[in-house]
Amino acid sequence: MKRRDFLKSTLLASAVLSVLGQASGLMNEALAQTWVKVGTLGYKEEAPAMQAKAGKKCSTCKHYEADAKTPGGGKCKLPAMKGGYVKEAGYCNMWLKKA
Ligand code: SF4
Repeated sequence: MKRRDFLKSTLLASAVLSVLGQASGLMNEALAQTWVKVGTLGYKEEAPAMQAKAGKKCSTCKHYEADAKTPGGGKCKLPAMKGGYVKEAGYCNMWLKKA
């Protein structure tokens, strides 16, 4: 193998490995997200009409933490929800007004 060919193949291999590493990181991040199961403490992915009308939904709850990487959802910090993700339009029986 000529020196030039060796350098080309080495550069190509490192570029491929770099792309694979980034893809793997994104996959791990996606897999790490656990969504709260519907029904847990009365959790619904969409707040019932009465609560929605009163502005009571996950995005206005004290326990909600928005996540820029998850459009339309974020983390619920309520210990019973174990750091799971919830829809910003969601609602559960533990809703508490954000201070
Ligand atoms: S505690 Fe708040 S943020 Fe968590 S699921 Fe219930 S309403 Fe949504």
